[in-house]
Amino acid sequence: MAEKRDYYEVLGVSRDADQATIKKAYRQLAKKYHPDANPGDKDAADKFKEASEAYAVLGNEDKRRQYDQFGMSAFDESAGGGGFDFNSADFQDIFGDLGLGGIFGDFFGGGRRSSNPNRPMQGANVRTRVNITFAESISGCRKMVDVNLKEECPNCHGTGAKPGTVPKICPKCKGRGQVVYTQQTMFGMMQNVQACPDCRGTGKIIEDKCQSCRGTGFTTVRKTIEVSIPAGIDDGQAIRIREKGEPGVNGGPRGDLLVEVSVSRDQNFVRQDLDLFSNQEISFAQAALGGDITIRTVDGDVTYEVKAGTQSGMRVRLKGKGVPDVRNSARRGDHYITLIVKTPVKLSGEAKELLRQFDQLTGNSLNTQEESSDDSDDAKAAGKKKKKKSFAERMKDAFDN
Ligand SMILES: [Zn+2]
Ligand SMILES: [Zn+2]
Repeated sequence: MAEKRDYYEVLGVSRDADQATIKKAYRQLAKKYHPDANPGDKDAADKFKEASEAYAVLGNEDKRRQYDQFGMSAFDESAGGGGFDFNSADFQDIFGDLGLGGIFGDFFGGGRRSSNPNRPMQGANVRTRVNITFAESISGCRKMVDVNLKEECPNCHGTGAKPGTVPKICPKCKGRGQVVYTQQTMFGMMQNVQACPDCRGTGKIIEDKCQSCRGTGFTTVRKTIEVSIPAGIDDGQAIRIREKGEPGVNGGPRGDLLVEVSVSRDQNFVRQDLDLFSNQEISFAQAALGGDITIRTVDGDVTYEVKAGTQSGMRVRLKGKGVPDVRNSARRGDHYITLIVKTPVKLSGEAKELLRQFDQLTGNSLNTQEESSDDSDDAKAAGKKKKKKSFAERMKDAFDN
């Protein structure tokens, strides 16, 4: 399939649409493009397929969250491969309402509407959690996670039957896994299909159970799995690793492993979406006179020139020094730094004396006399300025750190 359209766009709903709106939008599209209503129309069939795929994702809260976080890449591996779970949303419900056939079996090749208990079924998803540092969330990282996974029992190879024996066909349901009950109700006779109670829907009865797995066909194994965590992941987001969950049944694929990422707080940086916020102390002299300061960023220290007369609380923006977008690491947020002017606490004798001079100078006259007299001295003797430091330079020396 070519470039895919955004699922919200396909269904024509906003990103914050509720489930009822999504369902309604899909119903309308399904009615319009359903192959039963458009025989032989390939364009309609494609539109129907596209809308159904969008609904399979957006119609399921779990999958929708994945899609919102990771976009199409959350489902990339299975795109076009029939990996969409058409049981995840209530298709059956909708087609029943519309009086149209459920056609996923032949339409997508991967439909699972058949009730045959011997059909391949995907295994259950497994959830786990991993803790990473703030720095790791910015740069991306690889982590090893330990999970307890079901594996096919090596003794019976998953049949659950003692080696040398075979499970027998369930006599109650004759291997179908389902039984039909007929009930008298106020609306007349109703037929009810239920999983067979004798074989619990498997269609098989194991008389001689495998001793290693007690007939379940599975054993639990602790496994270590490497997880690649993309740069820019936020606290609480999850990584889906396809087919690393529980084994499937009857040759079906494994379920997925969902790894929820917990990001520790950082002392320096606070994250908000893709932007970062931090405070940076600057000295009294730096604020008054301006000059280069060192700002700590997630990419390391950078030099920034503050303007003379910087006030405490002023904010500086470093463009593109924020958090990488988890979907596109080339895109990054910004880093906002609040400059905090540090008022000196312990002062040396010289610093105190300079401050008194400073107070007098700024109190008596806003234009410092020193600068202009230095200038006129310089005109007469060029070497003088080098030997005798200006008031500004002495201030800077006394107050820097
Ligand atoms: Zn076994
Ligand atoms: Zn049965």
